[in-house]
Amino acid sequence: MRVVVNLEVCNGHGRCYVLGPDVFASDDFGHCEILSKEITDPEHVRQAQLGAENCPERAISIEG
Ligand code: SF4
Repeated sequence: MRVVVNLEVCNGHGRCYVLGPDVFASDDFGHCEILSKEITDPEHVRQAQLGAENCPERAISIEG
């Protein structure tokens, strides 16, 4: 599974890295950084899905 963030629409709400701290982090401006693009660990998969579902800008995509 691959996690991608569209930084053109990420607005820095921070929902992703609050809900999925093992997958997402904040850059210096509060925007999303993906910690690990390829994820297999079930807990990381859960966090990736949670972050994607709760992003107000729908900036996070999960592929594969
Ligand atoms: S929740 Fe969405 S808008 Fe907010 S920081 Fe994460 S990717 Fe960006």
